[in-house]
Amino acid sequence: MRILISNDDGYLAPGIEALAAALAPIADIMVCAPDSNRSGSSNSLTLDRPLIIYRAANGFHSVNGTPSDCVHIALTGGFDFKPDLVVSGINQGQNMGDDTLYSGTVAAATEGYLFGLPAIAFSQVQHGWAHLDGAARFAREFIEHGLPDLPKPFLLNVNIPNLPYDELKPAVATRLGKRHVSEPVIRTKDPHGREIFWIGPAGAAKDASEGTDFHATSLGHVSVTPLQIDLTHSQHLPLLRKAMP
Ligand code: MN
Repeated sequence: MRILISNDDGYLAPGIEALAAALAPIADIMVCAPDSNRSGSSNSLTLDRPLIIYRAANGFHSVNGTPSDCVHIALTGGFDFKPDLVVSGINQGQNMGDDTLYSGTVAAATEGYLFGLPAIAFSQVQHGWAHLDGAARFAREFIEHGLPDLPKPFLLNVNIPNLPYDELKPAVATRLGKRHVSEPVIRTKDPHGREIFWIGPAGAAKDASEGTDFHATSLGHVSVTPLQIDLTHSQHLPLLRKAMP
């Protein structure tokens, strides 16, 4: 098996290093990730400047672009490497509920999915990289024990509680929860007295009911959510048809 690995925390992040180390014994791997932290970059592609691939001493590749750029380049001629699977992560911090729309981790996997490949995004629920070895071991076993029997391509969003491996509860299939709207923007001053703004933190969970990713991980389970990219609002479509002049 050949696995393309990316992330949005940058090619130097502990999470991608742990993921690559965990998967190298079971697959041919290629690592291509942004040269800096591009968390929150969603599915953006860089169209206004050229992209350069650098090869680091450890064999990882970095790109001066987004996670989607990295996977896009890798799948469209940047390397002589045809992956069977695209894996993203392990992200520092959860990507659950509405986070998935903003996530560069999910976006890197999505880019593989859009090119017809099975793809998996792995995130650790709490920041801080604690028990990263456990998350990496889970990721390896999830892939090594055979991917779920789903029509291909599929896109899976996996969130792993920050617990020692032995304390992780079994993986469960979930739906995305929902969040309240984000906290307000933070208005402050820079050292020159100019008004500046920081995007506020994500909102608290609004739907963390049973069956959601929020609920599963709060109980210590690994959450696995199948994602799709069809944004059509199927219930609004017939209503809109009727409402059209
Ligand atoms: Mn990130």
